[in-house]
Amino acid sequence: MPEFLPFARPDITSREVEEVVATLESGWLTTGPRTRSFEATFAKRVGAQHAVAVNSCTAALHLALEAIGLTPDDEVIVPTLTFAATAEVVRYFGARPVLVDVRDDDHQIDASAVERAWSAKTKAVIPVHFAGQACDLAPILELARDRGAIVIEDAAHALPARYRERTIGSIGDITCFSFYATKTLATGEGGMATTASEEWADRMRMMALHGISKDAWKRYTAEGSWYYEIVAPGYKYNMTDVAAALGLVQLERLDAMLARRTEIATRYRQAFSDDERLELLATHDDRDHAWHLFVVKLKHEALSIDRNRFIEILKERGIGTSVHFIPLHCHPYYRSTYQLQPDDLPVAHALYQRSVSLPIYSAMSDADVDRVIAAVLETLDESVR
Ligand SMILES: *Cc1c(COP(=O)(O)O)cnc(C)c1O
Repeated sequence: MPEFLPFARPDITSREVEEVVATLESGWLTTGPRTRSFEATFAKRVGAQHAVAVNSCTAALHLALEAIGLTPDDEVIVPTLTFAATAEVVRYFGARPVLVDVRDDDHQIDASAVERAWSAKTKAVIPVHFAGQACDLAPILELARDRGAIVIEDAAHALPARYRERTIGSIGDITCFSFYATKTLATGEGGMATTASEEWADRMRMMALHGISKDAWKRYTAEGSWYYEIVAPGYKYNMTDVAAALGLVQLERLDAMLARRTEIATRYRQAFSDDERLELLATHDDRDHAWHLFVVKLKHEALSIDRNRFIEILKERGIGTSVHFIPLHCHPYYRSTYQLQPDDLPVAHALYQRSVSLPIYSAMSDADVDRVIAAVLETLDESVR
């Protein structure tokens, strides 16, 4: 039995290790020069005016909604096929997340569903760039512009990604990235909010560190002073310099890591795209994919096993997989709070039942990729109806 191939593994080299060690030896562990340098480099990489480093994408989404002044009476449109974070941040304000369905072909938020879900209370839309491919942003931005709402992109999967020649992070009003251990740039825990608005950037930076008026982190430096003023009840969401040290090296390696994931995706597509027992997600010529996830959809009519059994068999063959996502409207909290049934958002529910995410990360070897392909094909061969 070969070693278990995990679903995800961060790609950490000796350079990350050296930078973390240098940070530990520098005597400055929390928010400081490395965090500021990571923000500046990140902003440049995605073409944003401002970048605010925080300790998660969830924190970035929360701060974004705080900066735009979300109130309990507001509604925020969110795709149901996403992680917990995208909608829970709306609930932090007592506001209503209005869950909408996704497209069957690429699993992205459905712009026509966004339009149907719109109401006089709609304050913002949080589209998710599912799997690392940008959603169709143009109609959503246009709707929001026309009707005076804000677009906050959940780009947890989409670093680096492009939509119509523009880099994700430079398009919507605020864009939120994740550096969670499994994401395409990993700092263990971490996140970033980018925006063209200086006002929102300043507000998010201040609220990320207790609502203290100015450069709170500098109070322990030679430039700083013991005196500070609390101007709002903020949060504790600041990024540490230890995480930023990882982030700076990972950012330098971002394109090389993407190139490797793209190779893996190409091999998977060659192996599976003509297979009648599987379906792959549509890709679009006007977008560059970050390849954070590689999802395959089982055609149950061609198979004698269901998705859950498929996952078990792959696990027995030493391959870790995952499912993205259990739609939010199928979870007990959202079902009971908003009286939702699985069939209320039928596309996402059906996709959920057929989807499996295969391992795709730059630390995979060619032999790892071959193993995944062989295990998937053998499992399908044994399960033809
Ligand atoms: C991972 C993820 C998040 C949350 O990221 P954290 O950095 O863990 O807070 C948000 N949205 C989506 C779609 C994600 O996959």
